[in-house]
Amino acid sequence: MTILMFDIDGTLSLSQGAGTLAMSRTFKELWGIENALDGMNFAGRSDTWIVPTALANQGRDCSADDLARFIDRYVPHLGDALVERDSRLCPGVLPLLEALSREPVTLGLGTGNFRRAAEAKLAPLGIWDYFVDGGYGDDHPNRTELLAAGLERLRRHADNGADAVVIGDTAHDIEAGHAIGARVVAVKTGYSDPGDLDGADIVLEDLSDLDASMSALLR
Ligand SMILES: [Mg+2]
Repeated sequence: MTILMFDIDGTLSLSQGAGTLAMSRTFKELWGIENALDGMNFAGRSDTWIVPTALANQGRDCSADDLARFIDRYVPHLGDALVERDSRLCPGVLPLLEALSREPVTLGLGTGNFRRAAEAKLAPLGIWDYFVDGGYGDDHPNRTELLAAGLERLRRHADNGADAVVIGDTAHDIEAGHAIGARVVAVKTGYSDPGDLDGADIVLEDLSDLDASMSALLR
């Protein structure tokens, strides 16, 4: 049995900037900050890293209450922005999830998104219900820690000794995946620069070749 932990942005789906747009609107609405994310490189970063870091850039602290208020405003903005930006699945994702759901695997998420943001991104694309659980930005700002939290949760759905595979699109996914003892399959559909994915165990152009993807994941 294998536990699969999928990253969302650039791996399962492309939000075409909807997350950034929705966050920018939320920063403006809550704190009057314009263009809060300008100049930040947050590919592969967690939402709980991005929000406090953007506030720190403005010389502000981020309390637990600030973060909770942010999520409450951000999730509805995100729903609107995903429609505006025409978010979509990455190539081959739906047939792959359908095929994996017939295999003895535990399908999970390993994403820096807030859990509610993950659902807002995946439910309209019809794939939220494939995943039994996961690790989310809410669990920890650090990607290794949030993947570890997710893996612990997913182990409750899997056999003892199940191996873990992390699927992602950035060097952060690779580093964190290896840090929790997972094999890492990287895809080039997202936000990597040449060379970023060299540390992955396998690199795929995308997930559109079903046989190649299945054997990379279930080797
Ligand atoms: Mg990603």
